[in-house]
Amino acid sequence: MEFKELSIEEMVRGYTEDATTGKLCCIFCGEEFEKGLFYTSRGRTVSAERAMEEHVLDEHDGAFYGMLRLGKNVHGLSDSQQDILEGMYLEKDNRQLGEEMDISVATVRTQKFNIRRMKREARMLLAMLEQIENEEISERRKYLEEDAEEQRSEFPAAGRDFSGNSLHPFFSQFNPD
Ligand SMILES: [Zn+2]
Repeated sequence: MEFKELSIEEMVRGYTEDATTGKLCCIFCGEEFEKGLFYTSRGRTVSAERAMEEHVLDEHDGAFYGMLRLGKNVHGLSDSQQDILEGMYLEKDNRQLGEEMDISVATVRTQKFNIRRMKREARMLLAMLEQIENEEISERRKYLEEDAEEQRSEFPAAGRDFSGNSLHPFFSQFNPD
């Protein structure tokens, strides 16, 4: 399989879909099913989509375990983060998870809190990278910046006033100082 950057949606479901060929491709092993054709899965005749869903679940224990087993070098999660995530995936309560990991319930809560913080930070990193890597967005920004330059040279009195700006409550709740 040719390497490409997978979208979150593709990682969540565990396969890619080629819009031109209609080929569905498992991101873990490269198995392919073609839309419009029928396949035998679990002893029945099923669509390509169903065959792929069952493949990801039956062959890789689902996309969650498929990704977890890619290892630290790929997902970057520590052993305890992996244990916490797996516990959340299996819907274990904090007490059960704490007993199994030999840590206190408070530590389980802290670890979960840290994982949610990582999620928030990861999403913000994605949004910031999008500003850098998405050409449409950066071209639009440059256009608006040039437009502002022109306006300023025509109307120098129109100064910029950001004094009314303050941190949106969504962000200030994570940044109490
Ligand atoms: Zn596969």
